[in-house]
Parts: sequence; C-alpha cells; structure tokens
Amino acid sequence: MSQSTERPGNSRPNVKVAIETENGKFILSYEDFLFLERMLLNMGYRKITRYDSRKTFIRLSLSAPRPIIGRESSYYYSNNGYTVILHTTFLEKEKKWRDGSTDVGWNLIVAGDKPVYFAKPFSRTKGFILKFLRYAAISKWKIDHRLLCPECKAYMGIFRNPKTRQCFWACFNTTRHEGGVPKFESWDYELSPEDTKFLNIRREYTKRYHDKNKKEGKTPTPAAVIRKPWDIGNPENRI
Ligand SMILES: [Zn+2]
Repeated sequence: MSQSTERPGNSRPNVKVAIETENGKFILSYEDFLFLERMLLNMGYRKITRYDSRKTFIRLSLSAPRPIIGRESSYYYSNNGYTVILHTTFLEKEKKWRDGSTDVGWNLIVAGDKPVYFAKPFSRTKGFILKFLRYAAISKWKIDHRLLCPECKAYMGIFRNPKTRQCFWACFNTTRHEGGVPKFESWDYELSPEDTKFLNIRREYTKRYHDKNKKEGKTPTPAAVIRKPWDIGNPENRI
C-alpha cells in the first residue's frame, strides 16, 4: 500500500487483507497497523502510553482476570466529559496482531473510570480496519456532539437500557423538567445519514444473528457482559 500520499477521507484505502486462515480470520500486516494508527492520530486520537497505563494500574491497583500476554496499542480521545477508548489487538512490542481467542477490537466510551458504552466488538474478519476506523470516527463524533437537554440545558448523559441494551442520550434532572419526567433523545441524534446507514447495517447483521440464535433456542451473552472486568484493589481512587 502506498505510504506517500494522503488519502481523502472518502476513498477506499488499499488495505492488504489477503490471507484468510482456517477459522476465517484475516492476517493483517504491520503496514495495516501503521495505516490504522496514522488514521486514528489524524482523527485526533492519542496513544495510551505505557506511562498512562502504569499510572492507572498503580492508582486503581488493578489485577487482570486472566494472564495478559503482550501490550496492545490502544488510543483515546476525550471531549465534553467523555473518553472514547480503542483497543486495536495489535501487540506493540512484538509488532504483530494478537491472535487466538483474544483478537477482537474494542470501542468503548467511559466517564472517568466508568464504562458507559461498548460497541459490539470487532472481529478481525475481512474489512476489520475500515469498520474499526469508521466506528472510531462515529464514537468521536458522538462525544464531540454531546447533547444538551432540551428542557434544563444540562448535558445529557449516555444511558443504556439494561434490558434492551439500547443506548440513548438521557437527562434525569426530573425536578427541573416540566411534568417531572426524564428526557431521552436518540443515540444517533443528528448523526449523518451515511454514518446512520453504516450503523444500521451493522445492527441489522447483529439482529439477524440474534434471530438465528433465538430460532435455535440459544441465548448468547453479549461480549461486553462476558468480558471480565479487572479487579480494582483501590476502588476509592476511581474517578
Ligand atoms: Zn434535563
């Protein structure tokens, strides 16, 4: 792939994703990682440094739910009280993509140390890089455009209905609202039609997958629920 020319945002980058392994995963190259990183940095994401991670470890006295091998390249972007965190599955020191059962990319939004939103994890199948980048742009857009409550004008917060797992913008300042009820807005509020279409395609695939499971009598637990949290030894230091 060409390293010399800057690509306009809407052109399809020539990402090398040629080798499919037995389990349907694609083997990505180091150049793919460099491309991914460059695009994320251009968007305004910053790398989570070893120093940042170490400080979080010490502050919260973290211990992993399982042995963690290698350190993944991860990125963050903060605005309006929220931070988007991206885990790429690329092992920094080894300069290779993680494989095995831990090779899904993550896109989540946190408020301080508290996760408030998880995108469905990104399996490293064909199109991983493009999907990952597009989602990174969308999550960034969402926190850049954090809504104000139409009634009390406070910031609305990201709220996930625990039953349906659907996300909304919500304001629970009920005493300041006429009628004393919370206010909700669509999670995709004012998102561009192209991005909304992209999200809906991905949601449609998820829905088909769930419908298929339902037919077969299976109820798989969402990955974000399965994902074991790290043990926090210093919960009083959480922000
Ligand atoms: Zn309000």
